[in-house]
Amino acid sequence: MKQLGIFGGTFNPIHLGHVDTVSQVIRAAQLEQVRYIPASVPPHRAAPGVSAEHRLEMVRIATAQNPLMVADDIELNRDGPSYTVDTVESLANAFPGCTLHLILGLDALLGIESWHRWETLLNQVNVVVMVRPGWPLPVKLPEWWSERKTDITQLEPSETGKIMLVPIMPVDISSTSVREALRQGNPVQQWLHPGVWQYIQDHNLYE
Ligand code: ATP
Repeated sequence: MKQLGIFGGTFNPIHLGHVDTVSQVIRAAQLEQVRYIPASVPPHRAAPGVSAEHRLEMVRIATAQNPLMVADDIELNRDGPSYTVDTVESLANAFPGCTLHLILGLDALLGIESWHRWETLLNQVNVVVMVRPGWPLPVKLPEWWSERKTDITQLEPSETGKIMLVPIMPVDISSTSVREALRQGNPVQQWLHPGVWQYIQDHNLYE
């Protein structure tokens, strides 16, 4: 395995949008594996009300049938905020010889300058940016982006520091709306893997 994807998030809870869109990314960017990494203490938002262990277990359940998707507890075993740059450094040590591809939405990439050691991070990975097909990009890209923008097919296998746009059909689901529906007792099965739904029931999460 050489081309490794990294998909971080709160996954509170993981929903079908997280799986469907990454399946598209795997195909488009020809990744050999994507590691789903729940944040223990997200640096950019309030601590989630559901423990990292529960969120990790739901990621395990939702990704179990796909051998290219793996739940990774790397951020759960670390104290302090879950900085992506630290996670990437640990993964680079754990998977020597692999090229790391960080999967991000466009909004996240546009805000990356606020991330801890963001330039180091950008140099250590390729960023695979999920964009809506046909959506215009901001007229003026930051300089760091313009310099790094590339076509996936032009990438050398071990090259990093590039940014690739991948058009992905969006799936209109968010964990926020899943939590809200659960709290109100509204149906959510259409947004969740059945095993995740069962796990939420069994552990009385999001009540
Ligand atoms: P919340 O509603 O709590 O903010 P979320 O649904 O956005 O959660 P996160 O765990 O924060 O889920 O997201 C992890 C990653 O998945 C982020 O990069 C986010 O942009 C992406 N993501 C979330 N929902 C979708 C979706 N429906 N389609 C594609 N990507 C998504």
